[in-house]
Amino acid sequence: MRSIKLTILYLAKYLGLFRYSRKKTKQGLQILCYHGFSLADEDGFRPKLFMKAATLEQRLQMLKKSGFPVLPLGEACERLKAGTLPDNAVVITMDDGWQGAAEHAWPLFEKYGFPWTLYLTTYYAEKQTQVMNLALQYLCWKSREETVDLRSLSPEFGKSLRLGVDMSREDLAAKLVEIGEAIPTSQDRQDFVRRAASAFRLGQKEFEDRKLFRLIDLETCRKMAASGVDIQLHTHRHTLGDGSRESLQEELAKNRKAITRGGNGNPQHLCYPSGYYEPQHLGYLQELGIKSATTCFAGLNYQDTPLLELKRFLDGENISPIEFEAELYGFQELLRGLRK
Ligand SMILES: [Zn+2]
Repeated sequence: MRSIKLTILYLAKYLGLFRYSRKKTKQGLQILCYHGFSLADEDGFRPKLFMKAATLEQRLQMLKKSGFPVLPLGEACERLKAGTLPDNAVVITMDDGWQGAAEHAWPLFEKYGFPWTLYLTTYYAEKQTQVMNLALQYLCWKSREETVDLRSLSPEFGKSLRLGVDMSREDLAAKLVEIGEAIPTSQDRQDFVRRAASAFRLGQKEFEDRKLFRLIDLETCRKMAASGVDIQLHTHRHTLGDGSRESLQEELAKNRKAITRGGNGNPQHLCYPSGYYEPQHLGYLQELGIKSATTCFAGLNYQDTPLLELKRFLDGENISPIEFEAELYGFQELLRGLRK
């Protein structure tokens, strides 16, 4: 299926349909979304979440070659509503604030001279421990052991569990995350990950030294902000809360406070954690003075697109160059229109 799709895209490009779609969709604002960048082999583990730095550079080269104007998020939002956007305008956003954003993406965006927005979630940025669920899932993915002794993690495990036989790696990861989530402090959760790594006979020290599954610290964030990176909201604990206005307000207040320490005293743009939101959040966000919010829905944004429901294209290591190009030139947007 996938190879058929790619062939169709190549064919469309050589038939001149990308050039055609570029003109047809020129009034649409394209918002690109990135997450993390591999420090080791994370793109093999989660290709939608972690990308190779070389892949990002290819994208930026393509963007440069296209001549599409890359605008800062705030300016693009204002001009989207005013109807004064330049043709084929692009905005670059990045979610979460993974370590690779500082190590790989930041220098690349500087090299190509593109403005970008980092939506920072701040709990783990402050704690500076690994994001537990991903760290545990990675260990389950990475281990080459046939049997593991996990009794140090929970008495419910037997002496030797056969990986992929007694339990699939995914189920085991989910079980470990469930146990780990009951641990109250981030330090104890980090210790839990360390014990898991040792049970899987993996070099946890190396993972931690390389800052795998860590978010940037606020000092790094300040340096990024000082160099012109736009740091914006992604909630404190990567959640909108329990659905109430109060819990949303608290998440944003904590996030805002940390981001202020991270160099932006007035963040006004939000990215929904995991793209999730409910209709009532739109009213709350308006009252709380949020100017725009980005989703994980694919598509271009036009003058009538609500600023609190901006669409984005999620780029990742799983997206091939031709798919990215088809998205950038609006060809995928035309296909989506046809499907509707
Ligand atoms: Zn996120």
